[in-house]
Amino acid sequence: MAVEYLRISLTDRCNLNCVYCTPLEKNGYLKHDDLLRHEEITRAAAAFVRAGVKKIRLTGGEPLLRKNVTELVRLVKAVPGLEELALTTNGLLLGGLAEELRAAGLDRVNVSVDTLNDETFKKITGASGYAKVWQGIEKALAAGFKKVKLNTVIMRGINDGEIADFARLTLAFPLDVRFIELYSTNTRSYKLSNTLFTTAETKKRITETLGPLAEVPADRGDGPARLYLLRGAKGKIGFISGRSDYFCGSCDRVRLDCTGKVYPCLFSPATHDLRGLLRAGAPDEALDDYIKKIFLVKSNYKKDSPTAGHIEMSSIGG
Ligand code: SAM
Repeated sequence: MAVEYLRISLTDRCNLNCVYCTPLEKNGYLKHDDLLRHEEITRAAAAFVRAGVKKIRLTGGEPLLRKNVTELVRLVKAVPGLEELALTTNGLLLGGLAEELRAAGLDRVNVSVDTLNDETFKKITGASGYAKVWQGIEKALAAGFKKVKLNTVIMRGINDGEIADFARLTLAFPLDVRFIELYSTNTRSYKLSNTLFTTAETKKRITETLGPLAEVPADRGDGPARLYLLRGAKGKIGFISGRSDYFCGSCDRVRLDCTGKVYPCLFSPATHDLRGLLRAGAPDEALDDYIKKIFLVKSNYKKDSPTAGHIEMSSIGG
């Protein structure tokens, strides 16, 4: 499958400390100089677009913690040939930035939120802030993005009681809600593997409470999600089933982490260092050749290829 989608992590920092992600107390954050600079990110983005990428998503860590993120959005959006620019955020800072991000050219926003209740929010993220996240979602809806999606990781005994409440949001708002199965990627998420709540179980909860789900075709921006509509809904319901489904064959994405490492697969070892080339002043042709080679690695990547074993979504970019 041709690679058309690049996810770029802007920072390893986050203002939340989610139970399944990297703890804040990890061995300190990366140094400023380790991170790709705005102009390096833009140059890398342009090279990926020349190689066939059509859509870029900015992520993290928490991408809205990146200094001058609006300016970066403007720079990346201006890359010739890029068709769509999206961003994934925890929503805490979105209220204050939604309008300027839209004005800078950001097309779509995904907000990660696992609960609609501040007590549970504290348990999952270690912080109080659900009201701010919801305000961010409202601001994003008002700012006129092409699409606003909510991403929700369902965990048994933690937030599975809220599945119907999340699904109901698609009846009230033009929001897509996507339920994501928890992946076991690092020490924290391994400890939670017994909380896995499968797509089949989530679907059952929704249909028992809110009626049938009609399957609808996915758009290009929907990635591996399978999509459905409740009767009369304004938004779609999606399921991303990394644990109970095998979707490597339909994966068209690569990742660039905040230090310039390229991952052909989320689980692949960090062996491709674009920052070295960028900082050595490599010409565009050298970047293009390097990226072509990485795409070739991806096309030969199989589920049983070498893996990094332990991965941190917060630095590679979830
Ligand atoms: N801070 C941004 C946010 O919250 O969307 C971007 C980074 S965050 C790592 C991206 C997404 O990865 C979030 O939706 C989060 O829930 C998801 N994520 C992180 N660890 C995960 C895991 N072990 N299983 C499933 N999803 C995970």
